[in-house]
Amino acid sequence: MTLLDDQVAERLAVVHERIRRAGGTDVAVLPVTKTHSIDRCWAALHAGCTEVGENYAQEVVSKFHDQPLPFGVHFIGQLQRNKVRLLAPFVSVYETVDRASLVPELAARAPGAKVLVQVAALYEPGKGGCALADVPALVELGQSAGLQVLGLMTVGPTSGGPQAARAGFRMVRSLLDRLGLSMCSMGMTDDLEVAVQEGSTQVRVGSALFGERPPASASVR
Ligand SMILES: *Cc1c(COP(=O)(O)O)cnc(C)c1O
Repeated sequence: MTLLDDQVAERLAVVHERIRRAGGTDVAVLPVTKTHSIDRCWAALHAGCTEVGENYAQEVVSKFHDQPLPFGVHFIGQLQRNKVRLLAPFVSVYETVDRASLVPELAARAPGAKVLVQVAALYEPGKGGCALADVPALVELGQSAGLQVLGLMTVGPTSGGPQAARAGFRMVRSLLDRLGLSMCSMGMTDDLEVAVQEGSTQVRVGSALFGERPPASASVR
């Protein structure tokens, strides 16, 4: 155990306690390691996590290419069609499928891949996610292309604080139930309690585990 391992294990325990207090009983924690070095991924693994979340295709390749990965990588950044080929050897779940044009590319480069449909519950310009109304068709398209559509993912609004996310989280969870899907990826460091209260099954947590992030350099994207 290194000092970093100890620190991440302690912080993970705090996150689990926050989830418990919010009433969560079976909520997974996805440690988000974007822009952090690989020793953070190992620390999360040593603390008992089995997967990490990453945002940038180039960073995924440079971070993991010479490692036999004992953990899964969830891709949680904006997904570009021309990056699927790069990502395919590393990614276990694509959480940000938000438009039809990604589906044939995933089906070709990562047949049978596990995916989530990213929903923009409240429209914010420049952010990913498909409109609530378009989700059922995209889920069906993914399924008919042989992808394993596990569920839905959403990101809370940038401003307004945690409570501003509640209505969107609630809509996403209710749509998930209507579609008969099981995985609901919502909640981050600042709004995980609200997400858990509204039925999240996986929170994506970066800063609460690893502290402040170094900025993403243009080269990692
Ligand atoms: C960076 C990121 C996170 C983690 O954010 P924190 O606020 O550091 O917990 C979660 N989800 C997505 C989609 C992200 O891009």
